[in-house]
Amino acid sequence: MNLILIGAQGSGKGTQASILIDRLGIRHLSSGDIFRNAVAQGTPLGMELKGYMDRGDLVPDRLTIQLILDLLQAPEYAPGVVLDGFPRTRDQARALDDALPQLQRTIDRAIYLNVPRDVLLDRLSGRYVCIAHQHVFNIKTKPPRVPGVCDIDGSDLIQRSDDTPAVIEKRLQTFFEDTIQVVHYYRAQGKLLELDGNQPIEEVSLHLLYGLGLEPVQA
Ligand code: AMP
Repeated sequence: MNLILIGAQGSGKGTQASILIDRLGIRHLSSGDIFRNAVAQGTPLGMELKGYMDRGDLVPDRLTIQLILDLLQAPEYAPGVVLDGFPRTRDQARALDDALPQLQRTIDRAIYLNVPRDVLLDRLSGRYVCIAHQHVFNIKTKPPRVPGVCDIDGSDLIQRSDDTPAVIEKRLQTFFEDTIQVVHYYRAQGKLLELDGNQPIEEVSLHLLYGLGLEPVQA
């Protein structure tokens, strides 16, 4: 199965992506993670990306499209993929559609986690990630057991450099102006599964699995 996960920052996209990959045994491809790795490694591409990301702007399509389409050819994604964060513009969605025959795959569904802007602002301002593996915590909704320490690997928790109030505001504006076009794009194709993301994580994942025609995972 090949799925696209669309949601603003703070919509719970990453959490639902891990539920899906566990349930379906397919791989997660997050353009944001790939870009953050390039920045962390200080590659020439990373240095070019950093400015856009720190401002909350989209990375230009000329840097994004070919990179992600090339990665999609890797054998690890052959059984299926959850695309998280790509496509994010109408041109990216078109480029992906154009490449699908060559990639020998089709997109089954595009899932949109719909969360109101004020809820997103509230969620993002409390978000912390661990420096070792980017496990996500939230001081309001999912606090770590020990303040400032990751429950899973014990590393320090930090705020992402693009989770400051001004950048959060900019990223949400970018989402509701640009990325929302991708929602319309897949709605027009009849592939959109729109979910109310302003619910507890378990509720969202139940609706998500049912929407995909899958039984929920047994506890
Ligand atoms: P994310 O972790 O998905 O929120 O992505 C973090 C940042 O990476 C975004 O704010 C953008 O600057 C950049 N980014 C990630 N995916 C894309 C994409 N498909 N197109 C353009 N920029 C992207």
